[in-house]
Amino acid sequence: MDFSFAGKRALVTGAGKGIGRATALALARCGAKVVAVTRTQADLDSLVQECASITPVCVDLGDWAATEAALQDVGAIDLLVNNAACARLQPFLEVTADQFDQSFDVNVKAVLHVSQIVARGMKARGSGGAIVNVSSQASKRAVRDYAVYCATKGALDMLTKVIALELGPHQIRVNSVNPTVVMTDMGRLGWSNPDKAKSMLTRIPLGRFAEVEEVVDSILFLLSDRSKMTNGVTLPVDGGFLAC
Ligand code: NDP
Repeated sequence: MDFSFAGKRALVTGAGKGIGRATALALARCGAKVVAVTRTQADLDSLVQECASITPVCVDLGDWAATEAALQDVGAIDLLVNNAACARLQPFLEVTADQFDQSFDVNVKAVLHVSQIVARGMKARGSGGAIVNVSSQASKRAVRDYAVYCATKGALDMLTKVIALELGPHQIRVNSVNPTVVMTDMGRLGWSNPDKAKSMLTRIPLGRFAEVEEVVDSILFLLSDRSKMTNGVTLPVDGGFLAC
């Protein structure tokens, strides 16, 4: 399916690496003007080197005030991808208050905040828009050592639905993609061990993890008019994991 986002302005968080970076580049290839937000300047430098039309914004999204300041002049945005997240593995009994707060700050609170900033503009312009949150299969299934991460993604799924409910009347659609494991930096952190990977792979009917581009394709679909009646869904990109 070919997508055209010509004339649209898109903002992608966590665009320095992995799924976010590939999404930013794909949106630019499809004609969108892209604002790429992440916290490592070197990643933004290399992204702009790869695609000169991308506008970089360097900020730690876990910092509410810094995010507010960094995005205040970002201008009109039609398409938002809330992709940035952190995942730290810890047995439940070892989870600390700091780890809990940092994860919720980035994976949930920043999604709420960035969506507020962008959606206020969409509503004021009356031109509608589309938001895609990058959730996970871990929002709906327990994964050992991922207590906090699973909880953030469960919260994100419900946030997606409530924002969809409230912004629908303004023709702003809000959906999520919920991928299985993808071998990005984050994926490698949890699933490089072949025995552990096998335990997950045996639960995926298609018998493999997802490729970055497969997640990007689903994000582009949900951003595009090809899904213009789809609102408030949490779309598995998981080879059937959640069906079992
Ligand atoms: P990566 O770790 O490869 O990339 C995450 C990106 O987000 C990095 O550029 C990172 O920057 C940025 N980021 C993280 N925290 C912040 C922050 N506080 N402020 C600004 N930017 C930040 O992750 P993936 O590409 O794998 O993951 C992307 C999304 O997909 C996440 O929401 C994740 O939960 C989800 N997902 C991933 C899966 C996987 O197996 N990989 C499976 C299911 C869902 P920096 O490197 O500088 O920290």
